[in-house]
Amino acid sequence: MRLAALGLLHETNTFSPNPTGPDSFPVMPVGAAQSSIVGIITGQQLWNVHAGAKTTVAGFHAAGTTLPGVEVVPLVFATTPPSGTISAAAFEKVSSHILAALAEQGPFDGILMAQHGASVSEAYPDADAELIRRVRDAVGPSVPIGVVVDTHGNLSPAQIAPATVTLAWQTNPHVDAALRALQCAELIARTVRGEISPVQAVENPPLALNILLQGTIEDPMKTFLAAARSLEAEPGMLSASIGEGFPYADVAHMGMAFIAIADGDPELARAGARRLARLAWEMREQCDAVAPTPDEAIRQALANPDPRPVVLLDVGDNVGAGTPGDSVILLDALMRLRVPSFLLSVWDAAAVEATWTVGGRVDLDVGGKTDPIYGPPVRIRGVTRAAGVDAWEDRKASGGWVSFDAGPSTIVDLDGGGTVLLTTQSVPAAGAGQYAALGVDAANHRIIVSKAVYSTRDGYPMASGFIEVDTPGLAASNMRRFDYQHRRRPMLPFEPEATYD
Ligand SMILES: [Zn+2]
Repeated sequence: MRLAALGLLHETNTFSPNPTGPDSFPVMPVGAAQSSIVGIITGQQLWNVHAGAKTTVAGFHAAGTTLPGVEVVPLVFATTPPSGTISAAAFEKVSSHILAALAEQGPFDGILMAQHGASVSEAYPDADAELIRRVRDAVGPSVPIGVVVDTHGNLSPAQIAPATVTLAWQTNPHVDAALRALQCAELIARTVRGEISPVQAVENPPLALNILLQGTIEDPMKTFLAAARSLEAEPGMLSASIGEGFPYADVAHMGMAFIAIADGDPELARAGARRLARLAWEMREQCDAVAPTPDEAIRQALANPDPRPVVLLDVGDNVGAGTPGDSVILLDALMRLRVPSFLLSVWDAAAVEATWTVGGRVDLDVGGKTDPIYGPPVRIRGVTRAAGVDAWEDRKASGGWVSFDAGPSTIVDLDGGGTVLLTTQSVPAAGAGQYAALGVDAANHRIIVSKAVYSTRDGYPMASGFIEVDTPGLAASNMRRFDYQHRRRPMLPFEPEATYD
């Protein structure tokens, strides 16, 4: 059987002032000598750039090499780092590439889609649903469609309706993308052979899970996921998925989602999804959290008797959630509290240029330039220690990505202690590798700041602990900082009177 692999994977932060335009999805020519996964990638090139990664696309590729009798054809996959709302033109650009390839290379026996589940475009608040619907229209009602989404997806009835099966990654940090993709492909292959008839149901209680509680090895997610694994092992069940939700997409379907897939029995699927949702609702008081302020977090870190570094997580400027990476709120606090040993990165291309001379004196304002919420810029004084391209590989990075490149970058040692990495590109923080690439050993610092929440935790094996900080920004942990226009009301944690039955 021939299955097609395709999709659009974008985590959309609708609070970001920077729209995601067509230029965010450059079309990579087939055979291009590039290893970047960003843009619209087609054909064999798709396998080439994902080879060795552990992404959803890599899992689809693995399905073609391991499932007997299954050929997976790489069609079109588009992705770009988390950013603002996808423009109408950008969405149509991606959609037209996908639909054209489907028409040219079809028909297929089944479709495998690598989506996010929290994509928002100008025209379609549920952009995932729109694209899946278009693919359904293109292939007709009888071709099974399997969709794989990020753990952070805001998974809606409109997304699952046109699909045959929907599987979310079930880890955060995301380390099971390829595995879930393989499971999805297996279900689609069995459907094509007529062995199973999947029917799925989703429940969306009015509940948003705080980003600080979205780690999957701790409660409440640990308990929710154990219930999902036990549900899918029951007779008649094929799969279950929990969507944690992405709080920074201001859409009606923002929040937790519970998907159950049964074999031919819609009532069983519905009952399963409801059971998972009820469990979460019963534990709803464990779904909100408060992080310390920058000053509190720094004092906590300094009070730690363990000599190893403590990592402060700059939750408000979590680049992996679509923020710019130029917040200097924590830099300002560390300097103000005269912390003598810390390590921190700031995205500031102009500052890289101004500090490019190794051994040169530095006296300039850095960061806080994209949005007043991350600033004002902070004056740093010191000496440039190193300058070069900040590129590294991280085999444990979230989502299965491997290669990172922050472009030309400099390391500045501050007069009062502390070390700052200035970068030309903003890259989701992927651990100590971003510092090691320029010769800095993160282990030698009392405090390390990482612009992430979960994605970076495997990247600092030398750390004694992690402290999430309630920093302001477009990914702040405190959801009450945001002016939502489109979310459901009432909904937890915003309106305590919210009900679910
Ligand atoms: Zn995610």
